[in-house]
Amino acid sequence: MQLYSTKNPSTRVSFKEAVFNSMPQDKGLYMPVVIPRLDDKFLNHLDEYTLPEIAFNVAKALIGEDIPDNDLKAIIKDAINFLAPVVKLEENVFVLELWHGPSLAFKDFGARFMSRVMSYFLEKGEKQLDVLVATSGDTGGAVALGFLGVPNTRVTILYPKDKVSDVQELQLTTNGHNIRAVEIDGTFDDCQALVKQAFTDAELNEKFRLTSANSINIARLIPQTFYYFNAYAQLLKQGIDKVIFSVPSGNFGNIGAGLLAWKMGLPVEHFIAATNLNDTVPEFLETGVYQPKPSVATLSNAMDVGDPSNWVRIADLFKDDINDLKNLVTGYSYNDEQTLEAIKFINDDYNYVACPHTAIAWQALRDWQQDNYKADTAGVFLSTAHPCKFPDVFPESIAAKVDVPEQVEDLFKKEKKSTVLGKDFEGFKQYLLENK
Ligand SMILES: *Cc1c(COP(=O)(O)O)cnc(C)c1O
Repeated sequence: MQLYSTKNPSTRVSFKEAVFNSMPQDKGLYMPVVIPRLDDKFLNHLDEYTLPEIAFNVAKALIGEDIPDNDLKAIIKDAINFLAPVVKLEENVFVLELWHGPSLAFKDFGARFMSRVMSYFLEKGEKQLDVLVATSGDTGGAVALGFLGVPNTRVTILYPKDKVSDVQELQLTTNGHNIRAVEIDGTFDDCQALVKQAFTDAELNEKFRLTSANSINIARLIPQTFYYFNAYAQLLKQGIDKVIFSVPSGNFGNIGAGLLAWKMGLPVEHFIAATNLNDTVPEFLETGVYQPKPSVATLSNAMDVGDPSNWVRIADLFKDDINDLKNLVTGYSYNDEQTLEAIKFINDDYNYVACPHTAIAWQALRDWQQDNYKADTAGVFLSTAHPCKFPDVFPESIAAKVDVPEQVEDLFKKEKKSTVLGKDFEGFKQYLLENK
């Protein structure tokens, strides 16, 4: 597999280089030089394959010879060791549950696959890989649990003190082993600034092999295509072959993977980009003007992004004809009041509890279907996190119905371990140097 930078299409790097760099020097994003079209024999018979088999075929088509078949199969078996079921709520309304992994959010797909690919590419005798990651909540949990116990890697997670939910904090701070947590007395932006500065610090780069695990890494994007193919496979089993996906979107990695799957031949009729008040992309789809904005805080905080980092990839996928993108994707955005209404409606009508991000995707699907309903087309909204991760959002009557998975109950029995630091870079650097 060869990749180029969106800022400089004539560059070429290998898959391994792209995985370890995360981002090209020129600050573009890596894209595959060739986006293979999967053959019809596979696409028309997806229902005959399991999730790991689908994942292997899709990954193999993209990655090619960079990872031999048996190693790639082993990586997938280890990384994608949970299901992504499509659940029917009513005629032509389905929910794709992406939170059956260890951190209870869809980011497990990306983080677990990426960690194993990185570990695979580390050669014998190579310096330990030091992953630095700043999180506002969900990313940190997925990365921590994704790398936990992965040989020759260590993860340092920075999160803003007192600004993540209890479950999220426990997922970051109770792991031990090769995972350590640092609470920054500041905001998420402060955490991100520290990580960025560390990457440009000569002394740190000399002493450590630093890498980031953020959502723009190509090894996080690839595994997110798997569940689109797998969802389609589950619908084929029910005799459905026309589908639209509604995707709750923040940094636009999730829907970006869906669009990549579409480019690879998955016959999706339409995509819906569902956002909270951070509506940069819905606005673009309507006006044609991409105008990044400062992010605003909402109930669906994993989507509080004013300048989605994966947008560049989507624009690049459709650079030859941006009208194709506008025809394929419709944007919707909702405020917190509408999000709460949607949560209540889903609970009342389907007896189902959706997290705030998921509820936004459902509302957008509903609004789309109001105007564009087709009896032969299934609407699937993506559920990106288990509701127990956002306990403060729900009215009491609904909160009482949220079942708490065993792994979360276990978290509350564990001891929190973290280091509190200020937001100055020198202090953080000192911490890294003193805790080799
Ligand atoms: C990260 C996240 C999103 C947004 O996904 P993007 O790929 O950034 O668009 C949505 N919901 C939840 C629960 C998340 O953690």
